[in-house]
Amino acid sequence: MHVYGLIGNPVGHSLSPPMHEAAYRELDMDARYVTFEPAPDDVARALAGAAALGIDGLNVTIPFKQDVLEHVDPDDLAARIGAVNTVDFSTSPPRGYNTDAAGVRRAFEHHGVPLAGAEAVVVGAGGAGRAVAITLAEACEAVHVANRTVERAAELAADVRAGDPDATVTAGGLDTLGDRVPAADLLVNATSVGMEEDATPVPAALLHADLAVLDAVYSPIETRLLRTAAEAGATTIDGAWMLLFQGVAAFERWTGRDAPVGAMNDALRSRL
Ligand code: NAP
Repeated sequence: MHVYGLIGNPVGHSLSPPMHEAAYRELDMDARYVTFEPAPDDVARALAGAAALGIDGLNVTIPFKQDVLEHVDPDDLAARIGAVNTVDFSTSPPRGYNTDAAGVRRAFEHHGVPLAGAEAVVVGAGGAGRAVAITLAEACEAVHVANRTVERAAELAADVRAGDPDATVTAGGLDTLGDRVPAADLLVNATSVGMEEDATPVPAALLHADLAVLDAVYSPIETRLLRTAAEAGATTIDGAWMLLFQGVAAFERWTGRDAPVGAMNDALRSRL
């Protein structure tokens, strides 16, 4: 039997187990997906234990995504993002990947939204913002990062440029959205705004019909940003698509097989 899983703290409400187990059922695989909640300072022991027990792969979530980087051999993308969300134990040391990047890219592709030549605005410069900005800077014409804490946006833009000198990337505070969003093709909310309260980081008046809007927030599934974007005629992509495709990319890394995307999507959405 193959064993995959998730380490984080807490992981009780994670949607990854039903999503991955649906894939195993669909492909008739002898596999299980288990959640683990190590103490916050125990990540190194947790990874060594997983390797010793023959666990095949682990997803990694808050608060371990950055810490895990030091204990695995990260690929270039994970090293640039500075966070690992997928560990493959088939090698020693285990390899670390960041499939949030693939999650963003494939969510846009699935909705027929072209990235090449696009001007993108990323709101947020935390963990999700880093993965989104680094991914879109590679795929798009230009990226603007807007964040409440301006210094964090500037630091992220500098990191993007350091890893990709050809990237066109700018940064500013949330007050720069007024200039950038009206001219943009893509908008991603990578802040947590909209999760706890019915709020949006982007004023509705800036949204327009030529925009594709992805909200990384997936609980609730329809955020105020997506609601106002739909009212403005924009293409909307909810956060469950990003979550789905990061899981799809992890499954494909671990198994080398095409993921049963429909079954994984059904399992995810039935729980949202
Ligand atoms: P994080 O590292 O803690 O970053 C939080 C971000 O939100 C920062 O940019 C922060 O700005 C901003 N922020 C928080 N409160 C704000 C407010 N009141 N006004 C304006 N900006 C505010 O969190 P994260 O890991 O990047 O996660 C961000 C969101 O993405 C969460 O909702 C998470 O669930 C979601 N996410 C979704 C997926 C997916 O697969 N769909 C994957 C990863 C994350 P400052 O820098 O100024 O504090």
